[in-house]
Amino acid sequence: MIKVKNTEEIELMRESALIVSKTLGMLASEVKPGVSTLQLDALAETFIRDHGAVPGFLGLYDFPNSLCMSPNAQVVHGIPNDKPLENGDIISIDCGALKNEFYGDHAYTFEVGEVAPETKKMLDITKQSLYVGIREFKHGNRVGDVGYAIQKFTEDHGYGVVRELVGHGLGKKMHEDPEMPNYGRRGRGKKFVEGMVVAIEPMTNLGTHRIKQLKDGWTILTADGKPSAHFEHDVALVNGKPELLSTFKYIYDALGIVSDEEDEFRQVKI
Ligand code: MG
Ligand code: MG
Repeated sequence: MIKVKNTEEIELMRESALIVSKTLGMLASEVKPGVSTLQLDALAETFIRDHGAVPGFLGLYDFPNSLCMSPNAQVVHGIPNDKPLENGDIISIDCGALKNEFYGDHAYTFEVGEVAPETKKMLDITKQSLYVGIREFKHGNRVGDVGYAIQKFTEDHGYGVVRELVGHGLGKKMHEDPEMPNYGRRGRGKKFVEGMVVAIEPMTNLGTHRIKQLKDGWTILTADGKPSAHFEHDVALVNGKPELLSTFKYIYDALGIVSDEEDEFRQVKI
């Protein structure tokens, strides 16, 4: 059942989402060759608690850390470890925060030093596909419209769309109805309703869409060992239109990137 949120609840969710956004922004300056994902995880946990929130993933389904850290061929759900990042790596950082009983949940794939051009392009297309999907999260549309748009855009660029892992409704639970696949058919699935909040999160592989799971029971990686990218935003349906609750602004500020990509999805200035 879809749990819609009222205006006040959406503002609380924006607060949780922005704590995650600021955490990712803080990490943007720290992601570099030589730093381990466990070090970054510790920084994030302290930062989230300093902002009056609790790490959303820590202990969730018994996950052992605050961040899912998935380098290179890892798609999602990687567990932080003490192996240093290397020049040329990419690292998906997925972060959750719980405050005022509501979850924020979003993700960005960072470049570590100099990344191969074909990988850079995949990151760019995956991030674009996120906005292609968000644009379809509007009055009158259904779950399949978002999935269709992401899949078409991604496959037109020759990449693989991961099937087994999907976006989701978000609220007092990290995973609420509906599931939001990154593939689908136009006009199919649950209809979007005013006040619903979802996490839209394309996971895109440079090669095959197929995946496998490590014996740790968590880490998902590409079946062919090629790199994978992951970007995620939290979005509410307000006035029939997608309203971004999270932002990459803090990441861009840290990295010196100028972008207006979020402007069309923001009715409330942050
Ligand atoms: Mg996430
Ligand atoms: Mg999510």
